[in-house]
Amino acid sequence: MNIKIDGKTKVYGLLGNPIEHTKSPFIHNFLAKSLNHNQVYVPFKVAFNCLNEVIQGLYASDIQGLNVTVPFKESVIPYLKNIDEEARLIGAVNTLKRGDNGFIGYNTDVNGLYKALLSDNITINNQDVLIIGAGGAAKAATYLCAREQAKTITILNRTVKKAEDLAKSIQIIFPTISINAISIEDYYKLHNLKYLAIQTTPIGMSPKTNNIIIDDCEFYKQLHTAVDLIYKPSKTLFLQKAEENSAVISNGLKMLIFQAVLAYEIWHDINIDDKIIQSLLSTIEIGD
Ligand code: NAP
Repeated sequence: MNIKIDGKTKVYGLLGNPIEHTKSPFIHNFLAKSLNHNQVYVPFKVAFNCLNEVIQGLYASDIQGLNVTVPFKESVIPYLKNIDEEARLIGAVNTLKRGDNGFIGYNTDVNGLYKALLSDNITINNQDVLIIGAGGAAKAATYLCAREQAKTITILNRTVKKAEDLAKSIQIIFPTISINAISIEDYYKLHNLKYLAIQTTPIGMSPKTNNIIIDDCEFYKQLHTAVDLIYKPSKTLFLQKAEENSAVISNGLKMLIFQAVLAYEIWHDINIDDKIIQSLLSTIEIGD
């Protein structure tokens, strides 16, 4: 992909550490080229104790917009001029838009996941949902499932206290949804229901593709749908086992694309044509 850079080229980027694996430059530069926007998107590997200086420096350098990834999605919040209501409720930001006197924070992970599920015809409303993991991605997934009125939400995590804290924080926002937390080791104590499971831990991600968060086949018999936020490999062992037990499966690639598209739309105040998104989906190469 050739990008023409001149004195008027606007600069966007991604803050994270580590950042070497990112696909975001490909996605955003693809969108810019498709829309004929004179801009470039680059990765910024941020030293762990320098986030404030980086944010101030990038704002002073006329950077137009940024994405934020691990480990800065929460710690970036104090350095923003303003924050969108949903991002404030979730307590995590993955998109910064240039405002008058500083950056404004947004969270496009929530609606990125929502759009990904919609495009795979996966329904949240009135479903019994399992969220596996209780980190940043689980926060977005749990908030989304509560907002879209899942019947029940059960968060399973290695560190049960983190699952309990997450359940409490989302329960305050959505008091009528039943949200519970259990240790991942207690998965066999789940009610005898059929679940939509959203796997949000990095277990099974390339290169450690032989790892799986729960190995027991009995667990997978309880899933009617399994979503894994991992996109490399395209079919984790978690998704393989779920599929073997007749569940509908979906990986994290569409979420990755949609959270980026939504960020791009926020920066430019536009709606991106579905044809461009489809062309991006068919062009991006992730590999296994
Ligand atoms: P995070 O905040 O670090 O959370 C990691 C979660 O995984 C925690 O709940 C942690 O449990 C659990 N975990 C980690 N190692 C474990 C192990 N050995 N055994 C059991 N549980 C373990 O990470 P994150 O930001 O939520 O990201 C998680 C995954 O989601 C990553 O693979 C990331 O690539 C993916 N993701 C994908 C997209 C997308 O667009 N597709 C977007 C966001 C994230 P403890 O609480 O016990 O430590």
